[in-house]
Amino acid sequence: MFRRPANIRSMAIDAMKPAPFRYHAPKTIEEAVAILAEVAPEDGRVLAGGQSLVPTMAFRLARPTHLVDINGVDDLKRMAVEGDQLCIGACVRHEAFHDAVVKGPLGTLLSTVVRHIAHYPIRTRGTFCGSIAHADPASEWCAVAAALDASMVARSVRGTRIIPAREFFAGMMTTALAEDELLVEVRLPLLPPETRFGFYEFSRRAGDFAIAMAVTLYRLDGDKITDPRIALGGAEPNARRMTAAEQALAGQSPTREIFAAAADAAATAADPMEDAITSADYRRDLVRTVTRRALERSVA
Ligand SMILES: Cc1cc2nc3c(=O)[nH]c(=O)nc-3n(C[C@H](O)[C@H](O)[C@H](O)COP(=O)(O)OP(=O)(O)OC[C@H]3O[C@@H](n4cnc5c(N)ncnc54)[C@H](O)[C@@H]3O)c2cc1C
Repeated sequence: MFRRPANIRSMAIDAMKPAPFRYHAPKTIEEAVAILAEVAPEDGRVLAGGQSLVPTMAFRLARPTHLVDINGVDDLKRMAVEGDQLCIGACVRHEAFHDAVVKGPLGTLLSTVVRHIAHYPIRTRGTFCGSIAHADPASEWCAVAAALDASMVARSVRGTRIIPAREFFAGMMTTALAEDELLVEVRLPLLPPETRFGFYEFSRRAGDFAIAMAVTLYRLDGDKITDPRIALGGAEPNARRMTAAEQALAGQSPTREIFAAAADAAATAADPMEDAITSADYRRDLVRTVTRRALERSVA
């Protein structure tokens, strides 16, 4: 990772493995979005943890002409509970979630999921918001954000707007963020104490990107399921909730048969990606399996 010499806040870098770029080190959000407004039209990019951007620059698959390094912006390092939401700033790293960051099911869900993201050294640099902005289909945080209907707070020189998850994820590595917008914060709703959740993912080796994953949540009213949520990741171009599978759960008792019916509904509704080694049929089958196993893990 490139480290800037002390006291240098903007410099040209041209004797390195990546294509030449100009480096900017803003200290405030206002400064960051002002620089972005200027450089985004020339493929200027935000540099957060660098765990996705820097490898693609090293291969020269990405050739940003400017990098706006937000790691020196203290206001982006905050994580706080405000009202009924957990607010996660743009510089909060994956590692922060190893221990529960809030009491109750949300903290446990996040600390369960984080262990599936890459390997520990990557988790010490990569950021929660960077994953959301990058929107890799196999990002665990994107699946969590979709399941919880997270709110993404985007800031530019034009002002601030809040984008709900269902509008934010718009395809493979594609989001509703404009090129000059900084994702300053993601807000997750706190979960009622009785919420049950499950997470299951399949990847070929530990630490690899998942081929399919499911995040499931529900509560019980008596023995009937209420507010069911099932989000898929890894299988389709972007994370999303599977409403047909959720409907199979609503109002039912949490039995193995009902979980299997919801998993079938998720597999039927999924539109899986294909690649050189993974067929759509194989991924569809995995969707069924990860959904059922996530639901089975949700039984307290
Ligand atoms: C070997 C390896 C394995 C990995 N495995 C996984 C895995 O299993 N699961 C997983 O989810 N991830 C995985 N990752 C990716 C990792 O989680 C990254 O940390 C994450 O995808 C991006 O976060 P970052 O902070 O590193 O972003 P960066 O690499 O700095 O940026 C990524 C992109 O998002 C943009 N961006 C970043 N932050 C913002 C922001 N606040 N506002 C606007 N745009 C922004 C950047 O401009 C860039 O285009 C892996 C990475 C590696 C190298």
